[in-house]
Amino acid sequence: MTLDRRETTDQQTLTGVRRIGMMTTVANGTSAPNKTGEPPAEPAIPQHHVETTDRDFRSLGLNAEILEVLAGIGFEHPTPIQADVIPDAIAGKDLIGLAETGSGKTAAFVLPIVQRLGRGKGVRALVVCPTREIALQTKAFLDVFRKSPLQVTSACLIGGVKIGPQFDQLRRDPDVLVVTPGRLLDHTERGTVSLRNVEELVLDEADHMLDLGFMPQVRRIVTQVPSKRHTMLFSATMPPPIERLAQRYMDDPLRIDLAPRGAASGIEHRLYLVDEKDKKSCALALLDSVPGSTLVFTKRRSDAEWLCRVLERGRHSVARIHSDRSQKHRVAALESFRAGRHRILVATNIAARGIDVQGIEHILNYDLPDTAEDYIHRAGRTARGAAEGVVSSIGTWLDKPIVRQIELALGHPLPRSEVEGVTPYREMRSLNERRRRSPLRR
Ligand code: ADP
Ligand code: MG
Repeated sequence: MTLDRRETTDQQTLTGVRRIGMMTTVANGTSAPNKTGEPPAEPAIPQHHVETTDRDFRSLGLNAEILEVLAGIGFEHPTPIQADVIPDAIAGKDLIGLAETGSGKTAAFVLPIVQRLGRGKGVRALVVCPTREIALQTKAFLDVFRKSPLQVTSACLIGGVKIGPQFDQLRRDPDVLVVTPGRLLDHTERGTVSLRNVEELVLDEADHMLDLGFMPQVRRIVTQVPSKRHTMLFSATMPPPIERLAQRYMDDPLRIDLAPRGAASGIEHRLYLVDEKDKKSCALALLDSVPGSTLVFTKRRSDAEWLCRVLERGRHSVARIHSDRSQKHRVAALESFRAGRHRILVATNIAARGIDVQGIEHILNYDLPDTAEDYIHRAGRTARGAAEGVVSSIGTWLDKPIVRQIELALGHPLPRSEVEGVTPYREMRSLNERRRRSPLRR
């Protein structure tokens, strides 16, 4: 069940709620040439249509060097969240920015950080993100300021990639770190990074971090950062655990709420426990009943092939990626899924590493992964920002140990679900559990 988190947000306010209404122009989303008429020297950052205000960046208190960079990348007017966040952020006020995906939150925190950074030593800013894709996008935006006169350097510490090159990045003494929680803690435990000098802390997409079970890691990270710091938190919604995080670790934060009313957000986890022989029919029933773009994970190539064939016969639009297929075929499959020509992509776990597709609505674990961490990474491919996503997993009694590990990582049980036409496997409660629940058995 997806909770209606809106309610909580409306009832609990930390400080003054502000709203702005004006949205006038729509940025054309292309990289504009700079004043000399040359195209921008930096690789163009991905641009989408975005609603902007009629304000200009200068009026927000940004300095000349930053204004020049913004002109170079074609940002003419700030978006509403940028207009509202940037002045207070430059002033060093702790704040919570509530806004939907695609509203321009990256620049809302990167620009003030770049301006406030100064010329100190060591890592002075830390941006914590839920997924590697979000981290990479943020790092790409920060890189725009590396070659500018501001010379801000950054490193990206994310999971799922080799750690060695990250040591090299750290040796180059970056000003800013963009991280996912697990990999950062890996580094702090190895002593390869210190957070002692951090002055600026950003928690981006906090609700997504909650959905992915990262709250314990986030709390551990925050306690390693000096308490005298500037903290900004961004989220599409404010469920109670994030509210508590903000109350505990932020200093009287200003709340800037531009999230659309009634926005539901988050990942819905569903577990289908079935007999081994029913896995295939369960998968087909789920692919029939859950609409939207779907990424299916299987352990074996043979299952991936089987599933594709059956789906194709059933007139499903499906592409596949596994290690028996040539690189050319894999790229083509990914491209057609990304472009929406195929609704379903079936992938084996190994081949799926690094799949980066926006807007996946449904993850189907035909087989559960071997670790809770893999589950969380798979789940991280859906429900970006304000979007909703479903993660369905098919399990048999043999999967009970990994199910328990996933539940521990998420901090809540995986809701047991059923799909029409498939008899669910009935779980036996353990003897201890039954004893606890039945007073007569004492
Ligand atoms: P969010 O983090 O809220 O999901 P992003 O920061 O990723 O949003 O921004 C969404 C898109 O809008 C990006 O492609 C970004 O380059 C573009 N964008 C952001 N701010 C502006 C602006 N002021 N003018 C033009 N494009 C912008
Ligand atoms: Mg973002």
